[in-house]
Amino acid sequence: MAHRETAPDGGATGVAVSVREGLFTDTDPPRLLGSRCQACGRHHFPRHDTCPYCTAEGALPVELSGTGVLWSWTTVTIAPPGYGGDVPYGFGVVELPEGLRVVTRLTETDPSRLSAGQRMAMVVVPVRVDDDGHRVVTYAFAPQDPR
Ligand SMILES: [Zn+2]
Repeated sequence: MAHRETAPDGGATGVAVSVREGLFTDTDPPRLLGSRCQACGRHHFPRHDTCPYCTAEGALPVELSGTGVLWSWTTVTIAPPGYGGDVPYGFGVVELPEGLRVVTRLTETDPSRLSAGQRMAMVVVPVRVDDDGHRVVTYAFAPQDPR
């Protein structure tokens, strides 16, 4: 997944690349790419052909809801091995209306500004710039009503 866009300074265009292919759309607003089991009806993320709950094959590809509620959260203050982006960053679990809990980066880095059940919306955020000068982006959830 790569799309061209104008750089914030209005200068050269850059290419944004996803941390991993197939995680989310490059639409506005973006959506996470999941799947739904035709046998048990449960949703999955990331996308699987085989249901992780009942092992049935042939799960249908779906776009997941772009909003959910905050379920748990923390702040990462020390960079994990191999991570080239900035710290601190928020990290937590957001429950989507499909009943699926997604482990996700959060845009809010101050845990005292977050609360259980808070409405969150999916966004795409820059993580770092790779060796080829591409902006590497990933999905995250942002508070819909910042405090
Ligand atoms: Zn299933």
